[in-house]
Amino acid sequence: MSLLPDPACLTLKVMRQNGDAIVIDAQTTTAMATCPLCGCVSGRIHSRYRRTLLDLPWQGVPVRFHLTVRKFRCLNPDCARSIFVERIPSVAACHAQKTTRLSYVLLQLAWLTGGEAAARIARLVGLTLSPDSLLYRLKAISNGRLPVVAPRVLGVDDFAFRRGHVYGTILIDLAKRCPIELLPDRETRTLQEWLTRHPGVEILCRDRSPAYTEAAMKAVPEAIQVADRWHLTKNLAEAITRFLDQHRAEVRQAAPVLAAIDGDLPAVWPPTKGAA
Ligand SMILES: [Zn+2]
Repeated sequence: MSLLPDPACLTLKVMRQNGDAIVIDAQTTTAMATCPLCGCVSGRIHSRYRRTLLDLPWQGVPVRFHLTVRKFRCLNPDCARSIFVERIPSVAACHAQKTTRLSYVLLQLAWLTGGEAAARIARLVGLTLSPDSLLYRLKAISNGRLPVVAPRVLGVDDFAFRRGHVYGTILIDLAKRCPIELLPDRETRTLQEWLTRHPGVEILCRDRSPAYTEAAMKAVPEAIQVADRWHLTKNLAEAITRFLDQHRAEVRQAAPVLAAIDGDLPAVWPPTKGAA
């Protein structure tokens, strides 16, 4: 856990005590930002303003970030949003008053212990929150009213609403090992739009679907795409099966020889019914 919510895109300016809280002045450092509407990348800064975010407390003392963020001009002449605020989902969601990591901890507390107990535990570590506000956040999550924050490492796979007929796409935060979104289908356009609306994905772990590959290449071309373990194993199993199918005669000849060395191996290939 770092002092800053995301050292890769923030720099610390000043840290001081202000009354009964620790105040940290920080600012964003990335040179470019992505327009949330059209996906155009821009480096033209329009203005700056300050956000105040409550963060994880330090030794029972509340911590507040005074974060300077920027507005950029969208360079796409056809875009309806000429000016946009840079998104920093790894730090805080749009319009949020708490950092992403604090929100996550509070949600976990409320989920595991309930509103009353979570509020008491929060008070012990320096956070004054009402039980109702904690339960409200839980309900907002279940109703889909809270914005989903794109994780740095995103897992993408399909799942069946109705096996053999209707499939959707499940998105998973692989660092936290929890699902974050269900998409209604497994089309390129649907995933592409989600990735464009939720910038910040650096590694995308997916199956072998060309639709997901294309969506990632269009929406987050800078992200690293990797095949998940299950599909790597499946690829390997299929490659071995193909290889063995092409060399059935040699395998049949080799099998008795190997069986003489190791009694556990079948005497013929493929093994007959009931063979070991
Ligand atoms: Zn735009």
